[in-house]
Amino acid sequence: MAEAIVSIVLGYELNEDQVIGSVLPRALEGVDLGGDIRVGILDEGGRVRFPPSSSARPAFLAAGHFAEILPSWQVGLFHPDGRSIDDLVWREKATSLAFLGGTLLVIILGISLTVRAAAHEVALSRLKSDFVSNVSHEFKTPLALIRMFGETLETGMVEDEAKRREFYRIIRTESERLTHLINKVLDFSRIDAGVKQYTFREADVVDVIRNTLDRYRLQVRDLGFTIDVELPPAPVIARIDPDAVSEALLNLLDNATKYSGECRRVEVSAVTSDSSITVSVEDHGVGIPKEDLPNIFVKFYRARTEQTLETPGSGLGLTLVKHIVEAHGGRVKVESEPMRGSRFSFGIPLQG
Ligand code: ADP
Repeated sequence: MAEAIVSIVLGYELNEDQVIGSVLPRALEGVDLGGDIRVGILDEGGRVRFPPSSSARPAFLAAGHFAEILPSWQVGLFHPDGRSIDDLVWREKATSLAFLGGTLLVIILGISLTVRAAAHEVALSRLKSDFVSNVSHEFKTPLALIRMFGETLETGMVEDEAKRREFYRIIRTESERLTHLINKVLDFSRIDAGVKQYTFREADVVDVIRNTLDRYRLQVRDLGFTIDVELPPAPVIARIDPDAVSEALLNLLDNATKYSGECRRVEVSAVTSDSSITVSVEDHGVGIPKEDLPNIFVKFYRARTEQTLETPGSGLGLTLVKHIVEAHGGRVKVESEPMRGSRFSFGIPLQG
């Protein structure tokens, strides 16, 4: 019996439109290649069949033939802008390097800010502790004098009337100096706490200067100072806090005499222009080194010169002067040369 041989041939026909329009989009939908990498498919004629919108043949980063089903079609990975692998790797490296550089920069900046803040804190606490010892030192002199002359008078052994009067005068001027020091510290603490208040009113600036000088002359009467004064002959009316302006001028006068060294001559002048009155106090003393000039208005700061450190002071006077003058809408200026002297001036605006 002859055996019947049956051959079955199976074939398939691809519906390309179906493959491109539906199968491929669905198959590639969930493929996440990261970044901008896309999948592209070329047919046997080298035409882009997928993605459907691309017409130009993309430069593939990597490509390969489909296995059995579509042997003549190619599948590949490409970048939409046609970049090569080297280009993409270079860009990735550059991005990572930039990120690393940025991170390092932020770290360095953070460290340097921390170091600066710490250095600032250390400097400030040093200034504060200097301030406490300077202020105590400054208070000691008038207190010691008041006590000494008070005790001497109390014994009743000073019979000479003129001498007694002299002792009373010293006690009065030293208590005035003490009051000035206490006011300075109190004013400073108000300014530092941001609660300092000024009482502005129309007043004659020339009159305020004259009264302040009269008070100050009494204080330095025995120190052998000559104070030359040049003031406008007529009143100069401005909206000021007279006590504060007087306090600012007193501080400048106090410094001029404190740092005068051997030359005991101080010049005070006031000059008016259309818009302001400028008050200057000039001495011919120890002067201020250039490197200290930017800091002398900073609270507690004292120039690091031998002459300054030998002189009692709290480092508050000029901070007050600056605050007072700026509250009046003016500015303080300083010109100084070591061993030749200093000239401080401040302007107060006049109403138009
Ligand atoms: P202080 O109580 O130390 O005088 P200030 O704030 O009034 O405080 O002055 C700050 C620093 O400026 C002083 O310690 C001093 O070094 C310097 N200074 C101020 N005025 C003069 C001046 N007329 N001549 C020389 N140095 C001055």
